[in-house]
Amino acid sequence: MGERLDFLHRVSATLGEIDAQGLTKPERVIVSPQGARIEVETASGAKRSALNFCANNYLGLAGDPRLVAAAAEASARFGAGLASVRFICGTQSLHKELEAETAAWLGFGDCILFAACFDANGAVFEPLLDEADAIVSDSLNHASIIDGVRLCRAKRYRFANSDMADLEAQLKAARAAGSRTILIVTDGVFSMDGYLAKLPEITRLADQYDALIMVDDCHASGHLGPEGLGSRSVHGAEVRIDILTGTYGKTLGGGMGGFICADAQVIALLRQKARPYLFSNALAPSICGAALEAIRIVRAPEGEQMRQTLKSHAARFRSGMEAAGFDLKPGPTPIIPVMLGDARLAQTFAANLLDEGVFVTGFSFPVVPRGEARIRTQLSAAHSQADIDAAISAFVRVRDALAESQPQ
Ligand SMILES: *Cc1c(COP(=O)(O)O)cnc(C)c1O
Repeated sequence: MGERLDFLHRVSATLGEIDAQGLTKPERVIVSPQGARIEVETASGAKRSALNFCANNYLGLAGDPRLVAAAAEASARFGAGLASVRFICGTQSLHKELEAETAAWLGFGDCILFAACFDANGAVFEPLLDEADAIVSDSLNHASIIDGVRLCRAKRYRFANSDMADLEAQLKAARAAGSRTILIVTDGVFSMDGYLAKLPEITRLADQYDALIMVDDCHASGHLGPEGLGSRSVHGAEVRIDILTGTYGKTLGGGMGGFICADAQVIALLRQKARPYLFSNALAPSICGAALEAIRIVRAPEGEQMRQTLKSHAARFRSGMEAAGFDLKPGPTPIIPVMLGDARLAQTFAANLLDEGVFVTGFSFPVVPRGEARIRTQLSAAHSQADIDAAISAFVRVRDALAESQPQ
């Protein structure tokens, strides 16, 4: 009894500490579909309309009526769900179709589906590598990669974010230690900062040290590069990717589901041994149907137009915000972080922006380093130019009002 009370006290104390540091992440309630404009419930319970600048809805497909129809159609034809993992009685023609389409689009031998990319990254390392091997991982990689690497017995090496000299040092160390297979792992786009991994340099070093390359392209597949082929297609230089992980939960309709693309033999082994695949339910038909429709649109000429729109929106927002004197992280993607520094300021700034009709989120530790709190804005092809201009003016108004209320 005493232990149980102590435990609950410790939980409360931890929550109190998080709050005291201004690090509590509130969940604001949306009462509309995802889109450029959403309906948000305010603290008083009233509803207000706001421009959304913080979704991973880069091409605006999350609210696309064609995806909603495709999801409904797939449900009508294939049911609400499978009530089974894939290998027992959970594989429908729809799953095979989505795997084949994803692999064909991204140019790999095969593809395997997961409930989320978090699971794909948790699944990918352990079956493929053991203590004879080494993983060389970028220090800013997504939490799911860090967790996946922890579940694998391979030796671990970490290189400073995008630091190619350090990557080379780690590759040397891994080779010197007698590692068999060496796998370099990186996000294709660093999502809190909005810049690309240096894939051409990574490819060169991987060739030199006979290493494999895995890229997590969750923030790139669908909206970056020709055909939306992702981070490897935007460098204009030779890039090799041996294993690619991605999500259907962002650009590709924003539903959910993750995937791994690789050589057919690699995927065949993952189907036999990857624990989040073997012991978790098959993707719902509605999810597969919507994802298939998203891939069709992304590969069509219309997809190219959406990507052009997205690109010009990002340029318009970036130049407008810079002209207004905001400190932005540089980068070529539609992720544009507005740097504020202090965690509490980022929260206040975001709350005040909602009063001005702009929905954004303040990010602070542990999602980004301490002292580097920010509002990460994300552009969408679903925005209009007027939406972007309205957001810039709102940022200016909030900043000026905060400066006025601050004693000098
Ligand atoms: C979003 C994200 C994930 C997780 O994807 P889910 O499908 O939402 O689980 C993994 N890696 C990166 C880089 C991401 O941005």
